[in-house]
Amino acid sequence: MQQYCSDTRFDAIVLGAGISGLVSAYLLADRGRRVLLLDDYAELGGNHISRDIGGMSFDIGCFFFHENSAFFRHFPQLLGLYLPAETRVVKVRPDGGISGYPFDLRHDLLSLPSAKQAHILSSLIRSRLTVDQRASALDFITYWVGREFANVSGLVPYLRRFYSAEPNQVESSFARKRMGWVARNANLAGLLRSLRRRPETETNACFVRPKAGFREIYSKVAEMLREKGAVVQLAAAVQAIAQTGDGSMTVALASGSVHAAELFSTVPLATALRYCGMPVPAELKSASLVSLFYSFTGNRGFDGNVLYNFHDRGLWKRLTFHSDFYGETAGRAYFSVEFTVIGEPLTIDRYDEDFRKDAAGKGLFAGDLVLEGANMLDHAYPVYLKGASAAADRAIEDLARFGVRSYGRQGGFDYQPTGDVSASVAERTIRGTLSA
Ligand SMILES: Cc1cc2nc3c(=O)[nH]c(=O)nc-3n(C[C@H](O)[C@H](O)[C@H](O)COP(=O)(O)OP(=O)(O)OC[C@H]3O[C@@H](n4cnc5c(N)ncnc54)[C@H](O)[C@@H]3O)c2cc1C
Repeated sequence: MQQYCSDTRFDAIVLGAGISGLVSAYLLADRGRRVLLLDDYAELGGNHISRDIGGMSFDIGCFFFHENSAFFRHFPQLLGLYLPAETRVVKVRPDGGISGYPFDLRHDLLSLPSAKQAHILSSLIRSRLTVDQRASALDFITYWVGREFANVSGLVPYLRRFYSAEPNQVESSFARKRMGWVARNANLAGLLRSLRRRPETETNACFVRPKAGFREIYSKVAEMLREKGAVVQLAAAVQAIAQTGDGSMTVALASGSVHAAELFSTVPLATALRYCGMPVPAELKSASLVSLFYSFTGNRGFDGNVLYNFHDRGLWKRLTFHSDFYGETAGRAYFSVEFTVIGEPLTIDRYDEDFRKDAAGKGLFAGDLVLEGANMLDHAYPVYLKGASAAADRAIEDLARFGVRSYGRQGGFDYQPTGDVSASVAERTIRGTLSA
């Protein structure tokens, strides 16, 4: 898919070929700009990565897609390549039972003794009166559901696992972005909705990538970019970014330098700062994602294809049964298990050992569980420890003054939960530039 780049002058250079970079390059090329799209991966798609192991295909980073996504607005031909799927999302509760994700009032509240329910209600009233939801992620959650329910429902252990940090050290703005559903579900209308539905059996219609992996999708995207005249260079080793005297920007690559009037970056913010020779604030930390890939025959101890860990034991955060969407391989089901990590990860053996022990304790799998492989994804999540979003805003402004517009999930140090959000932000950024 790599195109050899013999030209060195472009109207625009886009760094990073994930959803943000692809939508940006496409929109610019569509408006007649000569565009160069650079990525250090060998394939397009960014976090949309799948691994094929012995005929089983596992996902890393992005599993589910919705047809109203802004990404499909630009690449409508792709939708036909995705497979319709139904997800059934459940959680392991702190008491070890399985019920609907994220809240299931029947199990999380109504099944409790009335004295406990009264305690939860009084804790909620106290929290609403005394807690400042802007102080930290823990305070945001506590304000909306009360301290007692945050523990009973398993939200606190889940938050700790999700951030790989104590929730009282995490910015409230992050919780608002990542867990806006807590606030939405914790008002009266949300509670009534939750009582009417049966979350433990509820399915959601969406799409998953083709069984053969993301390659089929992104080779089509490459073709569409080429048709618009954009040049794509993969496995591109950027060395530095500099201003040139005439107001344009230069990107030094291992293979030579390329120049453009405008430079858009969707690569990690810290990486772009380094390329421009700027200091990287210590607050800009990212969590990595470790994925373990398992195959299995036997009895699954839960009815669902996505299972979140809201229990206070076990390092794993979520598991997803890919074989529920693509079919079993040689009589074996297969799934991936995710762990978030800040700093040095443990060894794969250690994650495997922890998962097996925890799954056995929770009765999740009775049968033959085989570890088929593992993957580590850097920069999976921006970590909003206190002070991080202000440091990120300052860094993005510094880059803009230098001549680099930085945005996207990594470039904007912005927890963008879906490709729809990433595509919409890219669309706004490019439209803003084109109309300026
Ligand atoms: C664990 C996880 C699960 C998710 N699940 C879903 C889901 O189910 N559904 C959904 O819609 N969204 C999901 N998302 C969100 C979705 O993946 C993102 O919104 C979207 O992929 C972000 O696109 P992006 O282009 O901004 O960033 P990325 O996809 O991260 O792209 C950044 C690009 O920059 C490149 N790059 C990095 N460094 C350099 C460098 N030095 N030089 C050149 N290029 C570089 C990378 O190779 C990459 O291609 C999930 C994300 C994660 C992490």
